[in-house]
Amino acid sequence: MDVEALAQDLVEALGREAVALDPSELERYSWDALGPNRALPPKLAEIQPQPLALVRPRSTKEVAAVVAVAQRHGVGVVPYGGGTGVMGAAIPVAPSVVVDTTGLDRILEISQQDLTVRVEAGVLLSRLEEELEESGLMLPHDPWSLPIATVGGAISTNGMGYRVGRYGSMGDLVLGLTVVLPDGRILQTRGVWGKSVGLNLNHLFIGTEGVFGIITEAVLKVAPAPEERVLTAYQFPGFVEGFEAIMDMTRIGLVPSVLDYGEDFLPSHEGTISQGAALYLAFEGFREEVAAQRSRADAICRAHKGRPLPQEEAWRFWRQRHDIALRFAKGRRRGRPQEPAPGARFDYIHVSLPPSRVLEFRELCQEVLARNRVRPLEFGIWGHPGLFDAVMIHPDGDSCALAQVIDQLLTAAQDMGGSMEQCHGVGLKLLHLMAREHGVGLEVMRAIKRALDPGGIMNPGKLAL
Ligand SMILES: Cc1cc2nc3c(=O)[nH]c(=O)nc-3n(C[C@H](O)[C@H](O)[C@H](O)COP(=O)(O)OP(=O)(O)OC[C@H]3O[C@@H](n4cnc5c(N)ncnc54)[C@H](O)[C@@H]3O)c2cc1C
Repeated sequence: MDVEALAQDLVEALGREAVALDPSELERYSWDALGPNRALPPKLAEIQPQPLALVRPRSTKEVAAVVAVAQRHGVGVVPYGGGTGVMGAAIPVAPSVVVDTTGLDRILEISQQDLTVRVEAGVLLSRLEEELEESGLMLPHDPWSLPIATVGGAISTNGMGYRVGRYGSMGDLVLGLTVVLPDGRILQTRGVWGKSVGLNLNHLFIGTEGVFGIITEAVLKVAPAPEERVLTAYQFPGFVEGFEAIMDMTRIGLVPSVLDYGEDFLPSHEGTISQGAALYLAFEGFREEVAAQRSRADAICRAHKGRPLPQEEAWRFWRQRHDIALRFAKGRRRGRPQEPAPGARFDYIHVSLPPSRVLEFRELCQEVLARNRVRPLEFGIWGHPGLFDAVMIHPDGDSCALAQVIDQLLTAAQDMGGSMEQCHGVGLKLLHLMAREHGVGLEVMRAIKRALDPGGIMNPGKLAL
């Protein structure tokens, strides 16, 4: 492969300042947030990223020019947003040009009347939220990673945020997209509510990690800024009581704007001991609606032994809900650790289940973790009773053993009629379970990939395509 000729063509297409070949720059764009302390089976731990060049396009046309150059040279193209994906989806595992999308940073149109925003893909979610707020609007997607993730990355992972129960995932907000296809053509879908005109092509690009094209612009649904916001918090004696309260709210159609439920564990002589579970709720909307929701939710929580926590605790939760992202950003400035830290290995799962199977799944998690000497740190529910997560550590730092435990849990979720991942995507970490997840569906996806990208240049090695 002639990297010099590739670089020369990229410089011709974009200009010298927009192309970087410096090894330290390339190293920074070789990794996302799949760190070495997670549960990585040996094959994954040994992956060597292969970035050939980094480019910083500033328009859809420039992205198309990069794709044309990559096509000519037969190398991969990997879109890179904030690099905060936790599954390795932005890691260039084949020789590739990495496309930093953060130069696509314009907020093109905010419409209060239409409740929409037209925005370029590299805009940071927090910047978009701030600008919407100034127009009396709200971005309904509010993940922990709001200050560090981009619009394009959130669409391509179909991310979820604190308001998922009420507004759905990032993909649910997408009305229209502009995308550079693998052959350099520019596809534009119509950014309006409701279309009954054949396939909704937005879905080719939602949650598909850039394997079918590079999103350069999106038209998103937004919400009016709430007239009122009320926060409450409750402590439950155990997971079951709080879960029943959540189910009771769901049964009457009461959907708090934010619902964050977590059971914490501490080490004990017998293994681990549950510290009970805390439920944080936010009600947002017009005044009467908020008052009615708050009062009914309060009655339901108390009926299930929920003890109200002080208001200050609810507001502490609210203020600190993005702190983890800021800590991540600070750590990243020090560089990615190449070797895992000695000691415990940490990982998590975020599965989607029929709500009727959640308690059974939680029990299974406890059994599997105890049998394998893995310690739970937290079990939780986010937004909707079927969205279950578990955070765990292997005290001896055995990465392979922890990866096997995780596979047992993910396949159990699939066998219960659920899905192995609700919001973080597949990346490199879940590739081996894609056939089990999709069955014939994976063949359909592969056929689409062959039709659109016969050379396999778009984010090669991802989605098991
Ligand atoms: C501290 C922390 C907290 C997090 N909290 C949450 C959370 O609450 N909810 C949640 O869902 N996730 C969360 N994540 C994961 C991550 O932030 C999300 O997956 C986010 O949506 C990724 O956005 P990004 O811009 O960083 O994308 P990247 O990591 O850069 O890319 C992700 C994938 O999208 C592709 N891609 C990026 N841009 C484009 C584009 N323009 N066109 C096509 N493909 C593209 C990449 O190639 C890659 O496959 C968290 C991560 C961290 C580190």
